[in-house]
Amino acid sequence: MKTLITEDQLREGIRRMAGEIQKHYDGKSLTIVGVLSGSITLVADLIRLLDLPLRVQLIQARCDRAKGVCLGPLVIDEDLLSFGVRGRNVLLVDDIFDTGRTLWDLIPQIDELGPASIRSAVLLMKEKCCQVAIKPDFVGFTIPNEFVVGYGLDYQDRYHNLPHLAALEPNEMT
Ligand code: 5GP
Ligand code: MG
Repeated sequence: MKTLITEDQLREGIRRMAGEIQKHYDGKSLTIVGVLSGSITLVADLIRLLDLPLRVQLIQARCDRAKGVCLGPLVIDEDLLSFGVRGRNVLLVDDIFDTGRTLWDLIPQIDELGPASIRSAVLLMKEKCCQVAIKPDFVGFTIPNEFVVGYGLDYQDRYHNLPHLAALEPNEMT
């Protein structure tokens, strides 16, 4: 495992991203919608750097799977669809933008709930990402196309709780 982004670098990148978010929403109120579970560390750190009236909601996205492959679009867990985003400024927060499928599927579903605006923020964006025609509005770091863990991101339930971000070597993924 090799360290990709140290704790200090993470703190600095998140501070910069929070500054951009603060500037964008200055004087408005915000609803942060975090995608479980990878975004929880980012949501926790981000909200403490924002000086705005804000609400936090968490959603779980799921898809029908066959042999680990996602069939069809991601859907928001229905129980969580009841939160009030109508007329609110929504910032969708996720851990990583890889193929982009997650945000591509979730943004229209949240849009249907009638928010005043919808933007997205991710901690990480992969260099060779993007099978879709959208990009996140706020990005912490652009990283090489490696499988990363730590700071909320796991591999088979391990490493979520690493305080820094690391890339796994192929032989560490079985
Ligand atoms: P998408 O491909 O839809 O942009 O990203 C889907 C999800 O795949 C992310 O929210 C994240 O949970 C997972 N993912 C993508 N790349 C990585 C990675 O490098 N490491 C880990 N741990 N998860 C990843
Ligand atoms: Mg995720």
